[in-house]
Amino acid sequence: RKGNVIITGASSGLGLATAKALAESGKWHVIMACRDFLKTEKAAKSAGMTKDSYTVMHLDLASLDSVRQFIDNFRRSDMPLDVLVCNAAVYQPTASQPSYTADGFEMSVGVNHLGHFLLARELLDDLKNSDYPSKRLIIVGSITGNTNTLAGNVPPKANLGDLRGLAGGVNGMSGSAMIDGGDFDGAKAYKDSKVCNMLMMQEFHRRFHEETGITFASLYPGCIATTGLFREHIPLFRLLFPPFQKYITKGFVSEDDAGRRLAQVVSDPSLTKSGVYWSWNQNSASFENQLSKEASDADKAKRVWELSEKLVGLA
Ligand code: NDP
Repeated sequence: RKGNVIITGASSGLGLATAKALAESGKWHVIMACRDFLKTEKAAKSAGMTKDSYTVMHLDLASLDSVRQFIDNFRRSDMPLDVLVCNAAVYQPTASQPSYTADGFEMSVGVNHLGHFLLARELLDDLKNSDYPSKRLIIVGSITGNTNTLAGNVPPKANLGDLRGLAGGVNGMSGSAMIDGGDFDGAKAYKDSKVCNMLMMQEFHRRFHEETGITFASLYPGCIATTGLFREHIPLFRLLFPPFQKYITKGFVSEDDAGRRLAQVVSDPSLTKSGVYWSWNQNSASFENQLSKEASDADKAKRVWELSEKLVGLA
């Protein structure tokens, strides 16, 4: 049978390119888990995906109720779950004030980390129940959260501190909207959320790989400077960022190429190692990359996991 893969945020950018690559392979049925049903249908059509290669299901990661509703709907469909890709993200680099999810979490941490955490934690059971030979849970990471890289050293740098803001619910009411308890900074909130993504991948690996055989992986697909991720940035940035990445840093990757990279992590028989953060070199060959000190801190991962379980109602 075909494999079934859920991809969050498959309505544009990396998620859409990955959905397209997997659908075209003929080996995958893609469940596009998205907040805008119509936009996603249109995107799938214009990407040339055939009707029988995908299903659109509503998921708004800015609401834990919506996450639970999605899980319910998916289970009702009676499709087995073979691979889950946590890809959706928001990035608000120019926001001067935090905005909040339905549950009162700061938006970037709420969508990118907490919504995905509840989704992945719950769907782990579905992955366990699948008879697919190579089951995987993939959480998209980023170079920007890794302070052991040049890009990761552009201020404001990611830093989860002692997690006091996360412990307080990142709600900006009783405390700070930032994980480290500091003043709100939209770009930092995004980077912090990506550190959480990479920490959670490793914590899933430590807790569940041996018992379940599931492959847990993260990746940095390259700088896809043309996606909607930068939609909230100032116009001059949006104009100059793609050529800067193409000609100066040479980190630029097209949406199609990035989609093929993530599709590899979903289905390539040689990428089954668990607990790995994949990157690609200039020749587009994959390699196991090193995470920063903070993004590989096992102690911090455990604490983020426990605090997050409380915030999403799992503990
Ligand atoms: P896009 O903005 O193109 O895609 C983001 C996706 O997330 C969209 O489908 C968007 O939906 C969805 N999304 C946003 N908020 C929600 C929500 N509340 N509920 C459900 N879905 C939501 O950006 P990219 O393709 O660039 O980003 C994809 C991933 O790649 C992210 O995890 C990002 O961190 C990562 N990444 C990107 C890099 C880059 O250079 N672009 C580099 C490294 C990592 P909608 O269409 O409705 O807005």
